[in-house]
Amino acid sequence: MKTVGLIGGMSWESTIPYYRIINEIVKEKLGGLHSAQIILYSVEFDEIEKCQSSGQWDKSGEILGNAAKKLELAGADFILICTNTMHKVAPQIQSMISVPVVHIADATADELEKDNISKVALLGTKYTMTQDFYRSKLTDRGLEVVIPDEDDIELVNEVIFKELCVGIINKDSERRFCDIISKLKEKGAQAVILGCTEIGLLVNAESSSLPVYDTTVIHATKAAQLLLE
Ligand code: GLU
Repeated sequence: MKTVGLIGGMSWESTIPYYRIINEIVKEKLGGLHSAQIILYSVEFDEIEKCQSSGQWDKSGEILGNAAKKLELAGADFILICTNTMHKVAPQIQSMISVPVVHIADATADELEKDNISKVALLGTKYTMTQDFYRSKLTDRGLEVVIPDEDDIELVNEVIFKELCVGIINKDSERRFCDIISKLKEKGAQAVILGCTEIGLLVNAESSSLPVYDTTVIHATKAAQLLLE
């Protein structure tokens, strides 16, 4: 079995599902006492968030790149950055190591392609929804991406940082997210990408009016497949 290196803690609330899902898949495939070889480097999220909000992306890339280096030295065969947003600095992180970074948006685009989705809604942080580093990964594959209007972008971003990243799961916010998903459905989206690793803690396939592509589940599943290759 290969070894996966996780750069987690962004937030730690969403790193827990990664650990669980990867182990569940390995257990399901191999049975018995089998479990996944995982090395976790969990960062101090407050430091990373301050880099985001002050636009110091290079600094955050340096911090995460150093974490990736340590994971490589510790024996990781490939690396997962357990957040969509910080894939903004994925090229910088990749340039600091020689093992591959498995990109969360590539793994998600693979799943959408398999299911013949051509127009997709994207929910995530304001960085993920509005900047090109993430959306271009999807549009380069021929996908049309729809995002919420400005007020809803603010609302989604606020719920992510003020509630989900600090472990608050609020029914009212779930309803609001589902309303936003319904509006995006009206704009022609055939599915919704939960493009923030915490959103799956709030919204699921039952509550959403669109089929859900949960990036945490997709990314963790991809890692489990690679481990067993
Ligand atoms: N986990 C989130 C994401 O997937 C947001 C936290 C962050 O800014 O990294 O984008």
